[in-house]
Amino acid sequence: MIIICETKATENQINALQQKVREAGLEVHRSDGVEHTILGVVGNRNRLDMEAISMMPGVRDVVIVSTPYKLASREFHPDDTIVRIGEACLVGGMEVAVMAGPCAVESEEQIEASAEFVAASGAQILRGGAFKPRSSPYSYQGLGVEGLKLLRKAADKHKLAVVTEVMTIEQIQTVSEYADLLQVGARNMQNYPLLTALGHAGKPILLKRGMSATIQEWLMSAEYILTEGNPEVILCERGIRTFETATRNTLDLSAVPVIKHLSHLPIIVDPSHGVGTRRFVASMARAAVAAGADGIMIEIHPNPDKALSDGPQSLPFEEYGLLINRCRIIATTIGRRLGKAK
Ligand code: PEP
Ligand code: MN
Repeated sequence: MIIICETKATENQINALQQKVREAGLEVHRSDGVEHTILGVVGNRNRLDMEAISMMPGVRDVVIVSTPYKLASREFHPDDTIVRIGEACLVGGMEVAVMAGPCAVESEEQIEASAEFVAASGAQILRGGAFKPRSSPYSYQGLGVEGLKLLRKAADKHKLAVVTEVMTIEQIQTVSEYADLLQVGARNMQNYPLLTALGHAGKPILLKRGMSATIQEWLMSAEYILTEGNPEVILCERGIRTFETATRNTLDLSAVPVIKHLSHLPIIVDPSHGVGTRRFVASMARAAVAAGADGIMIEIHPNPDKALSDGPQSLPFEEYGLLINRCRIIATTIGRRLGKAK
């Protein structure tokens, strides 16, 4: 249930409303929009006298939110949420953020060369896995803390922010020391204890879509983070499992407008995991920007054929540079700006 306050509602009236909800044993989340303050009420609403609430001063409307996710819904927060990533960028506004880098950090030389090119391309955020969720236990698992250190060092040198994956609750503190944006991988989208813990991480979260997750399940996962008090969630479409085998996954670009309709959270697209094959990445990146994505995440490598993970979908630097230039033109055409302001 949401309580929409009148435009002229006073702080005292809003406080009284919040108090009333809390007295009934329910949780209340406040969202100050451009036009109205909205109070999101979470819990058993049978314990609340809706009639009485709607009569209280400062109340414009009381609306039942029919979706199972509440705080992630557009009803609760009509304006787009804009998430700040360090000094690097704002995700969810007019900017289209660019996150790029290798699938995994492999060595100082590899991440340094990547960071240099990523920065030169005008991207804001360096990616690179240090703790890798590999489908096979025999595949490269990442450099762990050493990888985090190398990632941070390379990013700092080139004035980039850092996004990297956190796989377990135990890793949150360590990864937070090095990263500006904490990535939840597709395989962990429904790891509810991890999501709950990330609600207290004090860092923005990049929540990738599970490979078999519906949009509703994905938004429910976001809700786990939001309800713990962390409003900084960015969604990432990275392809889902379908019957199609020509691509690694099926990149669901319709998720972009659907999420924009259902939710206020920013959404970015990762075409690299979406298609899994280098030759298809650029066209889907361009399509993502055209569809209204708030950012793109691209895997690159100084020598993709020698990459320790996801080489087949990683772009060599020149191809990535071309992709960025073309995406920038598309962003400008739709009234947005891609990458760093020059
Ligand atoms: C990644 O970003 O390298 C990754 C493992 O992605 P996903 O969780 O989408 O498979
Ligand atoms: Mn990868």
